[in-house]
Amino acid sequence: MTVHTPHHQDALTPYDAIIVGAGFSGLYLIYRLRQIGLRVRVLEAGSGLGGTWYWNRYPGARCDVESMEYSYSFSPELQQEWEWAERYAGQAEILRYLNHVADRFDLRRDIQFDTRVTAAHFDEQHNLWQIYTESGEQFHAPFCIMATGCLSTARVPDIEGLEQFQGPQYHTGNWPHEGVDFTGQRVAVIGTGSSAIQSIPVIAEQAAHLYVFQRTPNYSIPAHNHPLTREEQQAIKARYDEIRRTARESLFGVCFDPNDRPAATATPEDLQQAYEYRWQRGGLSFLTAFNDLLVNEQANETAAEFVRSKIRAIVHDPAVAEDLMPTTYPIGTKRICVDTNYYETFNRANVTLINLRKEPLEAITTHSIRTSKGDYPVNCIVFATGFDAMTGTLAKIDIRGRDGLDLKEQWNHGPRTYLGLMSAGFPNMFMITGPGSPSVLSNMVVSIEQHVDWVADCISYLRAHGQQTIEPTYAAQDAWVEHVNTVASYTLFPKAASWYMGANIPGKPRIFMPYAGGVNVYAQKCAEIAANGYTGFVLHASEAVALA
Ligand code: FAD
Ligand code: NAP
Repeated sequence: MTVHTPHHQDALTPYDAIIVGAGFSGLYLIYRLRQIGLRVRVLEAGSGLGGTWYWNRYPGARCDVESMEYSYSFSPELQQEWEWAERYAGQAEILRYLNHVADRFDLRRDIQFDTRVTAAHFDEQHNLWQIYTESGEQFHAPFCIMATGCLSTARVPDIEGLEQFQGPQYHTGNWPHEGVDFTGQRVAVIGTGSSAIQSIPVIAEQAAHLYVFQRTPNYSIPAHNHPLTREEQQAIKARYDEIRRTARESLFGVCFDPNDRPAATATPEDLQQAYEYRWQRGGLSFLTAFNDLLVNEQANETAAEFVRSKIRAIVHDPAVAEDLMPTTYPIGTKRICVDTNYYETFNRANVTLINLRKEPLEAITTHSIRTSKGDYPVNCIVFATGFDAMTGTLAKIDIRGRDGLDLKEQWNHGPRTYLGLMSAGFPNMFMITGPGSPSVLSNMVVSIEQHVDWVADCISYLRAHGQQTIEPTYAAQDAWVEHVNTVASYTLFPKAASWYMGANIPGKPRIFMPYAGGVNVYAQKCAEIAANGYTGFVLHASEAVALA
């Protein structure tokens, strides 16, 4: 741990760092930055902590990385003492966990809720970030850390007539805290991504009738969720250090038990056996059944076809099964879904699948959803239509760097970062799991801990070396952006019109935003760069003019 050396601004600013967001990232930032002696303030738009798990309270919401791994590793006592109830924890349990973490480490006193940041401007004269909020408050600090989340700007698409609809409308990413009772209701769910696939089976059990409006079918693997026994937990806890290390040293930040053989040379029997084994085990590890599934289209097709064969076997009506089968993009190039009874739900008499590829959505009327084939009368609409991912939340904040540089403008043709941690021209502003880092391709808690640790070490380094600011060079940033693109071009990811590519937002540049080189490779690069005295960054020691 680095000892806090007094900073020239200490006497003049009440905070050393302003953190925006109180999810997994913001909470660990408080803990870690306090450890190095920083005075921090977290500004959070919500009325409670938890980020994703505060907002996404839709029926069926749960993690798709197993709970014992989708959790902090920074405290051995925490990970030994916390008991996860299920293999994949539900939203309420994860939110309870995050509240427990906040209480256990006394984090709450540094969080200000109901505070939306609208602008962050770098004041070059004083080397301070000036932070402005919706209610007119102003904060300043030498460091600003955006812990604003990759999936935190819910998006309702522009559909003609939307404002006319007379019933309630919900978005999965902004769900009412008191819950929704669908009993006796005719419900429309628009979308068939991970949020829809989790909520549809649960809503179907309650609704009088559920209409699922599907534009693009998704590949989904069963979760085989179940309560965790004491013995299962103990077995993991006994080896927790090793499990966490294996996760950090893996491609996706999860212990998937990857197979290092290619599907391209496997026999049909081997393929069938490997996929069946992974299907029965359940979850995201399906994609690591072979090592070439995300780089070789023919290999990928063997996995995709296996999932289609499962859909055929599960769904009774062959026409509905056909409609549910993804065929237009390789498996895994959109986030694979993990479900409980998703395909089975379409065997229910009270569930109708509407294939928008065959009958396009035309409008929403006062009491119905209209496709080219006619009106579907509904009482309420659930938008499971996703997020303006990775850049949308930052773009809503007016972020200005040196010379009034506008982040949104700088990112007009796609996000430009060095390591997904900083952007050139924006000194002392860090992003947690920013575009250009593994972020959404990984177990995000692993990526969050790695980023927060890197940022804490970086600030300690600056202080120990009498430096005031750090920012990447344009050359290092250009090279990193190119590297991120090159790595993506070796994979099948660019073949899908996914939110990874910005394709779900009209007008958004089509660029593959996360870093596909792997959590392990990436973390090693970050560590090397730091160990070499922050290669690709410029550090300035110049004394800023003190605030009057
Ligand atoms: P968030 O949890 O998104 O928190 C960001 C916070 O910043 C929010 O509370 C938001 O209100 C606040 N904020 C944003 N802008 C402002 C502003 N201008 N002013 C003030 N506050 C602001 N990842 C996995 O690895 N495994 C999973 O199983 C998994 N499941 C998911 C399920 C759902 C339904 C969703 C939507 C995402 C899931 N993710 C999963 C990704 C998930 O977002 C991350 O795992 C993690 O929770 C992100 O934490 P965070 O703190 O970085 O961001
Ligand atoms: P999403 O994956 O972006 O899915 C949005 C869905 O809405 C897609 O099916 C999309 O169809 C559809 N859609 C969007 N606009 C539409 C329109 N105008 N008309 C008709 N359909 C429209 O969003 P999400 O399901 O909320 O998931 C986002 C991410 O959050 C996931 O990929 C995952 O990373 C995370 N998440 C994880 C879990 C979990 O299992 N733990 C659960 C939820 C979310 P198209 O495909 O045709 O665009």
